[in-house]
Amino acid sequence: MLLEHLKSKLDAIEAQSLTRFLREAESPTAPHQVVRGADGIARELLMFCSNDYLGLAAHPRIAEALAEGARIYGGGSGASPLVSGHSVAHTRVADTLADWFAPHIPQARAIGFCTGYMANLAVVTALGDADAEIFSEALNHASLIDGTRLSKARVTRYGHADVAQLRGLLAGSSARVKLIVTDAVFSMDGDIAPLPELLALAEEFDAWLIVDDAHGFGVLGKKGRGSIEHFDLRSKRLVVVGTLGKAAGLAGAFVVAHETITEYLLQSARNYIFSTASPPAVEHALLTSFELIEGETGQQRRANLRALQAQLSSGIAALLKRHPALPWKLAPSETPVRPLIVGGNAQVMELAARLERQGLRVPGIRPPTVPKGEARLRITLCATHTAADVDQLLAALDAAASDMERISA
Ligand code: PMP
Repeated sequence: MLLEHLKSKLDAIEAQSLTRFLREAESPTAPHQVVRGADGIARELLMFCSNDYLGLAAHPRIAEALAEGARIYGGGSGASPLVSGHSVAHTRVADTLADWFAPHIPQARAIGFCTGYMANLAVVTALGDADAEIFSEALNHASLIDGTRLSKARVTRYGHADVAQLRGLLAGSSARVKLIVTDAVFSMDGDIAPLPELLALAEEFDAWLIVDDAHGFGVLGKKGRGSIEHFDLRSKRLVVVGTLGKAAGLAGAFVVAHETITEYLLQSARNYIFSTASPPAVEHALLTSFELIEGETGQQRRANLRALQAQLSSGIAALLKRHPALPWKLAPSETPVRPLIVGGNAQVMELAARLERQGLRVPGIRPPTVPKGEARLRITLCATHTAADVDQLLAALDAAASDMERISA
């Protein structure tokens, strides 16, 4: 019975062109990556889908640091942090992050998690107790939404970037603890939340601002400390979550906040207490990643990213003018996440397949990840792309646009 039930659900997913596929990579995450196709044949593709925004995942110093970490600490951590899984490398990573955020958050301390998903669940469930009301931004990442579902707090959603609506909701709330929860950079749109305005509301209404900076950390700010540095925010009311699997090129995540908050997470967050700590070799390598992010490498790579972003935006704007019959729109992004909104699920998958036949991999993103009718190519840029790579993408998109315009005419 269960199998028939699941099979009919899978058939329904397929009927809506929503089936997802796993792809196997055979080389490091990089703009040119060897990926096995559905036919089982491995090909080098030009990738515009990774969140390795600074191109650090394949940096030789990261690979060396991982190997060195493995020689010092071996493989896994062997236990949850409070049992015996916490190493000096974990402490060094947390201390570095606390230093980085000290100018922004008084009495800052950091606590590590294995993934950003876990860190978001931890913060939202631990702080969102029965005394709390959570004000959750409409386009938040699934992990924040799942956190609100698991929490005991009352949950109120506010519209995307709708500061006026949020103000009204905060003004009308009588909750003892008020938590504003938002992505900093919206993962499927690439725009940045109005964090200064949200923080001003937090100050005015005695609320706390939980910011998921998964896509800003490493990318935004002069030293790559993310959206908090970008806006130069300062407040004890900031709770910042970052993942280390994207621009930092490795894995893991952190929460940095006032030390009372991180101590409370350590004492009460179930997915911290009851889950094996990340491998210490990864933590060891993160220290090298941090050096690269804040040093000259990071600065040059962030500058290159900005140049590529400008090249892609103006190239797509020109392309859309050449193909007025297509309903495509470039999302107004300020980050390396540059979605091209295509509309229908079948159309976006058709476009992605055409690009792949030309040797490019750009993923099509469909509902429920994005709203119905707004299926899109999620183009992501990495600092290790070249201007020629972006030109190749633009030429492939142009060819696909001409074909699709002809078919739909
Ligand atoms: N937050 C956002 C906005 C994300 O895009 C992601 C990853 N897709 C996460 C959190 C989860 O981070 P991780 O991949 O480290 O679990």
